[in-house]
Amino acid sequence: MITLIYWFRHDLRLSDNAAFLSACSRADRLIPVFCHDPDVSIKTIWGFERMGAHRQQFLAANLDDLHTHLQSYGSALLELTGEPRQVLLDLAREYDAAAVFCEAIAAPEEEAALHALRHQGVQVIASWQSSLLDPDDLPFAEQELPDVFTQFRTVIEAAGIKPPRPLGAPESVPPLPEQMDFLAEHRRSRSVTVCAGHIEDDRSSFPYSKAEFSGGAGAANAHLQQYLARKLPHTYKLTRNGLTGTDYSTKFSPWLASGALSARSIHAALKTFEREYGANDGSYWIWFELLWRDYFRFLHLKYGQRLYAARGLSDLPVPPHDDEAFILWCKGETGEELVDAGMRELAMTGYLSNRLRQVVASYLIHDLACDWRAGAAWFESQLIDYDVYSNQGNWLYISGRGTDPRNGRRFNLQKQTRDHDADGSYRRRWLSL
Ligand SMILES: Cc1cc2nc3c(=O)[nH]c(=O)nc-3n(C[C@H](O)[C@H](O)[C@H](O)COP(=O)(O)OP(=O)(O)OC[C@H]3O[C@@H](n4cnc5c(N)ncnc54)[C@H](O)[C@@H]3O)c2cc1C
Repeated sequence: MITLIYWFRHDLRLSDNAAFLSACSRADRLIPVFCHDPDVSIKTIWGFERMGAHRQQFLAANLDDLHTHLQSYGSALLELTGEPRQVLLDLAREYDAAAVFCEAIAAPEEEAALHALRHQGVQVIASWQSSLLDPDDLPFAEQELPDVFTQFRTVIEAAGIKPPRPLGAPESVPPLPEQMDFLAEHRRSRSVTVCAGHIEDDRSSFPYSKAEFSGGAGAANAHLQQYLARKLPHTYKLTRNGLTGTDYSTKFSPWLASGALSARSIHAALKTFEREYGANDGSYWIWFELLWRDYFRFLHLKYGQRLYAARGLSDLPVPPHDDEAFILWCKGETGEELVDAGMRELAMTGYLSNRLRQVVASYLIHDLACDWRAGAAWFESQLIDYDVYSNQGNWLYISGRGTDPRNGRRFNLQKQTRDHDADGSYRRRWLSL
């Protein structure tokens, strides 16, 4: 009788989850578990917790959905609070589990968690699965990844590299160990109460308190289908720099980040859409943006820990920092209306358009002369779509400490305001002018 643990990380789904399918096929008894790491509520050196109320709430809905889905297979999601290395070690010992299966995450803390587990004698089988393209299909070795995104994309497209087809959901999920049924239900309800008491703003571009935008694979797939049924890919390139509303961009990111939806499922649905309704610049540009997402993942495979140094990959001096200016930026009280409006939208809703993420990040780094890592930490705390690779990669890129050939992106605030909020409606919306 083989008992295995499946540790859900940022892959909160059952479909197109190769690591989970592999655990299902090898186990007689399977313990699906999610660890609530108390680290996320401890204050960082920047003075705030790593996971704010918005992401906690979105995560809670994701976990509920996953639990319900597992229940339909006669299983359940066990939610445990504690450091993963301790929680999983205890669980493996208590139930005599042969191994922990999980997805691989190529970021330093996430890798350290696996090392710690292995160091304690737990067998861990981690599979890479969060990118659109399979790293094994790339026409270059990991270390030869081009340092310029355009070169990466051009090589991929010229070589005709396609993502693997998404996998289906498992036919069956092995049952929990018999003595665990009660425990699964009990511990689950205990941890969910942690997430009570959030507020959400009805001006949000990602109103996650509404059923259509809530966490979980159910809402994610329904969102994808309605996005395609309304033929929004055809206008994506024209609208993607918008600031307000639910339709100007795809809004896939919160579900991609939690893993409720896989990039490969999106891609497969997009290809079906293009066969039925035709491809154009807009539908192509969604692939283009998903390639950016992959690029930041592959950069982690190439550079790892170096992406987390204050200097990043550059030989620039260690960045300066002004804590007072940083706090005003976080609160949306810098006195620059477009920046303040964006920062308030972020804090009130947990979401911000890509355009304004770029504008506020540039302002923090290049105008307020603050440390890019403080900005990245604030985004980690606030964003419901926080993704370690995309957040780190984009912040490095704007700071000029990543692989950007232009040595950083400084946005001209006046021009951005003219181009994207000429009538002032966005600023009025968030600053109550
Ligand atoms: C400073 C900064 C920090 C960011 N932090 C995150 C983060 O933590 N998590 C996150 O998912 N995205 C992050 N992004 C990227 C981007 O802003 C969001 O992915 C996008 O706004 C999400 O909305 P959407 O799904 O409607 O995007 P769309 O415009 O509809 O794009 C479709 C998908 O393509 C991918 N994508 C688009 N732009 C980028 C990009 N620049 N980098 C990587 N992937 C991209 C996303 O997966 C997105 O869901 C950051 C950007 C900046 C400038």
